[in-house]
Amino acid sequence: MKTFRETRALLDTLETQHPGADTELHYTTAFQLLVATILSAQSTDARVNMVTPALFKRYRDARALSKATTAALERQIHSTGFFRAKSKALIGMAQALVKDHAGAVPASMEALIELPGVGRKTANVVLGHALGVPGLPVDRHVLRVANRIGIAESDDPVVVEQQLCDAVPAERWTRTSDTLILHGRRICRPKPLCDQCDVRDDCGFYRTSVARVRVRRAKPARQASGPTRLRTPRR
Ligand code: SF4
Repeated sequence: MKTFRETRALLDTLETQHPGADTELHYTTAFQLLVATILSAQSTDARVNMVTPALFKRYRDARALSKATTAALERQIHSTGFFRAKSKALIGMAQALVKDHAGAVPASMEALIELPGVGRKTANVVLGHALGVPGLPVDRHVLRVANRIGIAESDDPVVVEQQLCDAVPAERWTRTSDTLILHGRRICRPKPLCDQCDVRDDCGFYRTSVARVRVRRAKPARQASGPTRLRTPRR
């Protein structure tokens, strides 16, 4: 695994490649971001952004959402997928906010993950983007990209979060996650576009997998030009 210094240098490069990386979910309050992030599970930010304007108009805050009926909410969020589970989580989350936090979104990991439908990733998204508390959300993109480059080493999101948090200062945590997510969406996709990647020379996955495959593929091409002829020794 890369050293802390190497990790920070690699992240510098990625931040230059993806300047201004930020969440692509649309929101104006912490409550709205919490709702949008819950909806984004197994969906896309673009799809969620299509649904949330009408949703936020109808349910302006936790009190309004806590009184929503399951049927009405399911209809509104249907296109984001898993609408039954999400509807249940959203109403439960809103009711818990009203009951335990006077309708406000709490600014702590411990309190957030107590809410229905809220895990560490969602909590970190809201903390880092809407509440000014450093948080490093680890989603599937962060997990894939960080492991490929070699700045983290685990398939457990909690372990990867800890490894990255140890390597970069807290004020950089949220930006680090946003940058890795954007890199994972645009370049380091499941089938990576390594030729467009600015950290290719230092990427463990590129060196051990992509570059090696290219060398292996190049070899038969050379052999195809015919076996090397042995020179007849001069007499
Ligand atoms: S070199 Fe390829 S595998 Fe490595 S981070 Fe870049 S895109 Fe991903």
